[in-house]
Amino acid sequence: MGSKNLKAIAVRGKKRVKVADGEAVKRLSKALRDSYEEPYFSIGNLGTARVTTMLSEQGILPTFNFREGSFDGAETMAKTILKRRGTCYGCFVRCKRKVHVGEPYFVDPLYGRPEYETMAAFGSMCGIGDLKAISKANQFCNAYGLDTISTGSIISFAMECYERDILTLGDTDGLELRFGNTEAMMSMLEKIGKREGPGDVLAEGICPAAEKFGKGAINVAIHVKGMPAPFNEPRGKVGVGLAYGASATGPDHMEFPHDPFWASEAGVALLRPLGILKPVDVYDLGPKKVRLFVYLQQYWDLLNSLGICVFTAKPFGPQTLNGIVDYVKALTGWETSLFDILKVGERHANMARVFNLREGFTARDNLLPDRFFQPMEGGTLKGKKIDREEFSKAMETYYEMMDWDPKTGVPKRGKLSELDLDWLSHEGQ
Ligand code: SF4
Repeated sequence: MGSKNLKAIAVRGKKRVKVADGEAVKRLSKALRDSYEEPYFSIGNLGTARVTTMLSEQGILPTFNFREGSFDGAETMAKTILKRRGTCYGCFVRCKRKVHVGEPYFVDPLYGRPEYETMAAFGSMCGIGDLKAISKANQFCNAYGLDTISTGSIISFAMECYERDILTLGDTDGLELRFGNTEAMMSMLEKIGKREGPGDVLAEGICPAAEKFGKGAINVAIHVKGMPAPFNEPRGKVGVGLAYGASATGPDHMEFPHDPFWASEAGVALLRPLGILKPVDVYDLGPKKVRLFVYLQQYWDLLNSLGICVFTAKPFGPQTLNGIVDYVKALTGWETSLFDILKVGERHANMARVFNLREGFTARDNLLPDRFFQPMEGGTLKGKKIDREEFSKAMETYYEMMDWDPKTGVPKRGKLSELDLDWLSHEGQ
């Protein structure tokens, strides 16, 4: 978008949306609202930022460019400067928040508040526990149309480069770009937004910047397919590593529900309609985990296709998946089924894979950065790492379960035909 000078796309319509069965839609919406129960991490009452301290305690809060997994400042970050609650249009969960800060930075409630990913981006990743500064960074990114995950990640990467002498004071416009230096983080953020000096280089993205810096900078660039990793630690929930590698859009933390959800009987109870009956350990990278990943990736692909927020999907309870089928029927009038709509998710994954192949991506682009195969240097999971061989095997199993070539990840002709996607067979082959 930046290369096209495009800041946002806004869509406005004036006509009413017609649905097939208005009464059924109302009934299902009411049932959804009435049966909503706050999950254990209190998404509605406390917002996504609530998980910051929880992840720090569990040792899976990415800290200092993914070197550690717990951050002392996380407690400070959880303290609130809350002004009021906010929401996306018409949502009963209302997980958004708005904050106001007067001094030392002015933060306007109009810009909301930092979500969890933003808290980690400018907080633990940069070694900063100043919630006001993080809120200001959030406002700056929103005003400039910058993605907070990539921007915080790139500053954290530059901080590590500085501490390893890959960058010098001469490269940073005189900024002491060390972890924990709030002023330097804020200045570099502004330079990126305004494309000034070193900010102009970082604004090009993590890989072009690493290439320009040289001196092994690429080894501390935590990315997949050129996109910086979001702040979910694959060494503490290994399925997330699969998602980071397999996702067509780079390391996407919204590719599937994370491992802890299906490590308990309560979590698995929601997945019975998929034939998933037993919990799988968060550190298991065997075929059982891959199977869960395949099914749940398709389920979340379906939610993305339908425009359903994952934070609202759970309250359908044990009928989650069947509830979604009823919704689709009521909205569209289609005679559909769980089997039929899950194929939408599978089709989505296959089309995205073929698109990437056509654009020149190969199986090599599905690899994780070295850091995730190295032991964590600090936090409650200190020493934890992913076994490289186990990961490669899991990725191969994933390709096999998807009916893709186990070495290249290219969808087989028969699979594309089964999904009624024959017209894609000539692409990327
Ligand atoms: S739609 Fe999702 S993100 Fe938006 S307020 Fe509701 S729960 Fe939160």
